[in-house]
Amino acid sequence: MAIPLELDELEPCFKDLVLERVPAANLDLCLTCGTCTGGCPASELLGMDPRKLLRMVQLGMDEEVKKTDWAWVCTMCGRCVNACPMKIDIPRLVYNIRGSWPREDRPKGIRGSCDKHIRTGNAMGVPTEDFIWTVEDVAEEIRENEPRFKDLSVTVDRPGAYMAINQNSREPVTEPDELGPLWKILHLVGADWTYPSVMWAGENYCLFLADDEGWRYIMEEFVDHIDNNLGCELVVNTE
Ligand code: SF4
Ligand code: SF4
Repeated sequence: MAIPLELDELEPCFKDLVLERVPAANLDLCLTCGTCTGGCPASELLGMDPRKLLRMVQLGMDEEVKKTDWAWVCTMCGRCVNACPMKIDIPRLVYNIRGSWPREDRPKGIRGSCDKHIRTGNAMGVPTEDFIWTVEDVAEEIRENEPRFKDLSVTVDRPGAYMAINQNSREPVTEPDELGPLWKILHLVGADWTYPSVMWAGENYCLFLADDEGWRYIMEEFVDHIDNNLGCELVVNTE
């Protein structure tokens, strides 16, 4: 038989933590309407229910929340907060719950991708020279086979380009032909752009891991390269 919880014995910290970091999080305003749960793509995965999660945090059931993996099935899509009549920021709550896990206990796949991104500049661990080689090879193939794009220009680290564009690192590895369509659009509209060679990947698993330090490191390296080596005025994040 389940043992009832004594709510007045609980010591909530998630709620205080979230309110400290996100003062507008207004968790207490929940109407329990269920709109968040109704539209949540993760709803029912491992029993996930955003309304229930929020209620548990409100009641200070931190230990019960920690026993679930719900924070890790949330996609952080933001659908709940957009639909919520009280604008309660559940993704921020989820982010803080993730951050409360010891790093070594967070999901291995996300952690590995975050670590690779920190180490190599992309979540797939592609060496920079391989990325550049693939880009040049695919571009050459397009120029040779498609007369309309015989002047297609694709560069990496071209100083002074107006836009720096990042790239999901899965495509150069598993689907290099998928690189071409965006290049063709950019070519046809006359865009002045380049890929950066530093932190060139658009994905960001450190965000999903709730690794603030890793996330900050990636962004600082990226911004430093864009500002100080390339001088691009605009960054386009393709993710
Ligand atoms: S949509 Fe907002 S108000 Fe409704 S149950 Fe979810 S969090 Fe509460
Ligand atoms: S952010 Fe998370 S909880 Fe909210 S709708 Fe998306 S998956 Fe569900």
